[in-house]
Amino acid sequence: MTHRHKSPSEMTGDLGLVNGEEQCVYMAGNSLGLQPKKVKVYLEEELDKWAKLAVHGHFDGARPWVYFDEIISSSMASIVGAKENEVALMNGLTVNLHLLLLAFYKPTAKRNKILLEEKAFPSDYFVIASQIEMHNLDPTSCMLLVTPREGEQTLRREDLLSTIEREGDTIAVILLSGVQYLTGQLFDMASITHAGHNMGCVVGFDLAHAVGNVELSLHEWGVDFACWCSYKYLNSGAGGVAGAFVHEKCMHSVKPVLIGWWGNDRENRFTMENKLKLIPGVRGFRLSNPSIFLSCSLQASLEIFTEASMPALRKKSVQLTAYLELLLQRIINAESKEQLKRLKLKMITPTDPVQRGCQLSLQIPMLSQPVLQELERRGAMCDIREPNILRVAPVPLYNTFGDVHRFVKLLKDSFLAVILKDQNNIP
Ligand SMILES: *Cc1c(COP(=O)(O)O)cnc(C)c1O
Repeated sequence: MTHRHKSPSEMTGDLGLVNGEEQCVYMAGNSLGLQPKKVKVYLEEELDKWAKLAVHGHFDGARPWVYFDEIISSSMASIVGAKENEVALMNGLTVNLHLLLLAFYKPTAKRNKILLEEKAFPSDYFVIASQIEMHNLDPTSCMLLVTPREGEQTLRREDLLSTIEREGDTIAVILLSGVQYLTGQLFDMASITHAGHNMGCVVGFDLAHAVGNVELSLHEWGVDFACWCSYKYLNSGAGGVAGAFVHEKCMHSVKPVLIGWWGNDRENRFTMENKLKLIPGVRGFRLSNPSIFLSCSLQASLEIFTEASMPALRKKSVQLTAYLELLLQRIINAESKEQLKRLKLKMITPTDPVQRGCQLSLQIPMLSQPVLQELERRGAMCDIREPNILRVAPVPLYNTFGDVHRFVKLLKDSFLAVILKDQNNIP
């Protein structure tokens, strides 16, 4: 690549030139990760193989289609801190949430609630409400929503733990995100799991914004189940294959409710007898044969993660985000331009690095959409979640300290441009 702002050599990031020389600054890897260069190579290899070998591709070649997902599961397992047989690659995230809740949510007269965040991602909210309805229960009484304190944006650990202690008897499942998609808050999954288990609850996590972003130890923490998508920090491409985790301790006690031939033991699967030898644990939850195209694009990404390693990525991430925070605070405090105060900017992500991943979220009470437009015009990409939260994710795998510096400069220029244009409407 010849652009001044390069991505590391393993990733593509050609999002067009700005001012004829500089490449766009991409801070939206929390939404869709950039494409690893090997994706194209691997996809072409499999297209060729399909053209040449057709049905023999299932068992032949470097990536036997029938079990290639299992081959790459070990690197996925190490990213989430799981044993290899605790992880399956299948479906999309929302589908996996449903499949796992079918198996783990067993409401009784006394214990029938699911604890979740009030601002849970809409898909998670719909999944939970519909699972509750499926049991002929009422979502309004069975969804226990945890909310931040009045005037606060994020949940306090002690409040979460005391809610679990207080209401635990009636909670069947605790289902929280690992990293909150809107605020960027990282939850203390180990202590939530511990508190939930003390009260007899099942504990699961949606790791969509945590996987590939922060270090995870699902096995050690004793989490019962978890699931995640692979197209955000894991860079597998839109609609990439999702992951699911079921702890080894539940291997024989928790069984899938819906069963397909892919949950059947591989030895038995092709004998075509209607005899089920269910694979114990999460791999028994698989229903259909996996897509080689999704598997090999994920493989390209996982290879980079294995080489870079999560501890090293997280180490850089903490520094990168601290640098972003420092520069953003100067704007929020309007250290150089008094007019910036008018936008009433506010950082809502926790300032404690232990309580966040790479993303910082900035509340822009006024003119958030015009700010985003100005930013994109200047060649910086991030996103806004309605009504007014700007999410900025410096991703350690491909963002540099230089990117952060340039992004904040462009953001400040955008704020000032918007203020100038809108003099009359800002109090
Ligand atoms: C991104 C995301 C989803 C998306 O679900 P898909 O099934 O992959 O479309 C769901 N939940 C959360 C928390 C997310 O961040």
